Amino acid sequence: MSKKIVILGAGESGSGTALLAKKEGFQVFVSDQGIIPNSTKNRFESLGVEWEEKTHTLSKMQDAQYIMKSPGISDSTPIVQSLKSIEIPVISEIEFASKFTNATLIGITGSNGKTTTAMMTYKILDDAGYDVVLAGNVGNSFAKEVAQTEHQFYVLEISSFQLDDIVNFAPHIGVITNITPDHLDRYNYDFTAYLKSKLRINSNQTHRDFLLFNGEDPKLSKAIHSMKTKSKLHEFGTFNKNINTTYIENNSILIETQKTKTMINTMEFPLKGRHNLLNAMAASTVAHLLDVSKETIRESLLNFKGAPHRLEPVLKIQNIRYINDSKATNVNAVYFALESMSEPTVWIVGGVDKGNDYEMLYPLVREKVKAIICLGIENQKIINAFESITDLMVETQSMKEAVLIAKKIAQKNDNVLLSPACASFDLFENYEDRGNQFKQAVREL
Ligand code: ADP
Repeated sequence: MSKKIVILGAGESGSGTALLAKKEGFQVFVSDQGIIPNSTKNRFESLGVEWEEKTHTLSKMQDAQYIMKSPGISDSTPIVQSLKSIEIPVISEIEFASKFTNATLIGITGSNGKTTTAMMTYKILDDAGYDVVLAGNVGNSFAKEVAQTEHQFYVLEISSFQLDDIVNFAPHIGVITNITPDHLDRYNYDFTAYLKSKLRINSNQTHRDFLLFNGEDPKLSKAIHSMKTKSKLHEFGTFNKNINTTYIENNSILIETQKTKTMINTMEFPLKGRHNLLNAMAASTVAHLLDVSKETIRESLLNFKGAPHRLEPVLKIQNIRYINDSKATNVNAVYFALESMSEPTVWIVGGVDKGNDYEMLYPLVREKVKAIICLGIENQKIINAFESITDLMVETQSMKEAVLIAKKIAQKNDNVLLSPACASFDLFENYEDRGNQFKQAVREL
C-alpha cells in the first residue's frame, strides 16, 4: 500500500499532521473546503505537501493509507461519509501523532476545565524539572510537537472530536474533568453519545495506566463504574474517601493511593472557585502519580496565574470588580462562575445558544444576580428563562454598551461578570475577541 496520508482541514491539527507525516516519509495531500491562508500554503509548498482548497476531490484520496480528519469537521460531512464507505481508516491527529512517539502521555478531556487542568499539570511537571510539553487544543498541535523534538512527557488537552477517531491512542494517565451537555449538535443531541466519546480516552489503556475522573459528577461516575476497564481508577473531588481518591480535608488536598497518602495545603492558592480546586486536585494527582514531591506541587500551584478569559479579574474601578469569563460557553461553566461570586453581581450573558437549559442556574441567579445584561442578537430565550426571577434585565448588542450599562447599574462592592453561557459567533470572531472587547471596554470606563 502507498505511504500516503490525506489530511482534511488545513488548520492547526492539519498543518501539524502534514509536518509530521512529511518527516515520517508520507506523501501528503491536504484538502480544505474553505480558503487556506497564504502563510499555510507557503509552508505546504516548502514541505512538498500537495493541497487543494474550496473543494474535496475524492479521486485524489482513494489511494490513501490514512485519512486524518481535523476535529472541526463533522462525521456527517459527505466527503467523510464517502471515505468511510470505501473503508479507508479515518483517524484523528492525536491518533496519528501517537504512532511516532514513545513518550509518556497525559490526556485531559472533559466538558469544562480541560485547558486550566492541562496548564496546571504542565506547570507542575515543568517546575519539577521534567522534559514536558503542553499540546493539543492548547498551544501547538500534538503532531507538530512530535515532529519538532522528542520529549519525555506530553500533557495533551483533548476534545471529544479528537477522541472520536482514535484507534490505538492510549495515554498513561487519562483525566476526565466532568461531563455536562456541550457540543451536542455534533452528537445528534444525544448526551450518551457525547459521554461515550469522552470515555474513549480509556479504551486502549492497560492495567499499568490510570484513569482519573471527577467522582462528584454523577453521570460520569456512574458510566465509569459500569464500564469494563483495565486501567486503575482514581476519583477526585469525591465525598467518599475510598482508596484511590483525591479529596479535601482541613483546607488540604489529600491524595490517597494504595501505597501512599499525601497532603497538600491549599490555603493560599490564588485561583478562585470550587471548580478550580477540582482542577488543582486532578493536576496534583497526575503529578503525584508521576512522583513529583508535594512541596513542588504546592509551590507550583501557589504561582499558577490562570488562563485568560477564565474568571479573569480585569480591573477594580470605584470598588466594582470586572471579571472576564468569556470562555464560559456553556451553562455548567457559568454555574461555577456564579457560585464563586461572593458579592452581588451584574451578569452579562448571551450569544449563540447551543441548546442551553438554564434551570440549574436559578438558585444562584436568585441569590447573587442583581441585574442581567443580555448581549446577543437573539436574547428571547434568556429573557424567558430569567425574567420572573430577576428585577432588572437589559438587552444590548455591543460590548461597549453592555459594559457602560453594567457600570451604571453596579454599586460599590458589586461584581460585573461576563460569563456568556453561549458561543460568541453572532457578534464576535471568537471567545477571545469577546473577552478582549470586554477588557478594552472596561479599561475605557
Ligand atoms: P475547557 O478547555 O474545557 O473549555 P477551560 O479551562 O478553558 O476549560 O474553562 C472553560 C470555562 O469553564 C471557564 O469559564 C472556566 O472558568 C470554567 N471551568 C474551568 N474549570 C472548570 C470545571 N472543573 N468545572 C466547570 N467549569 C470549569
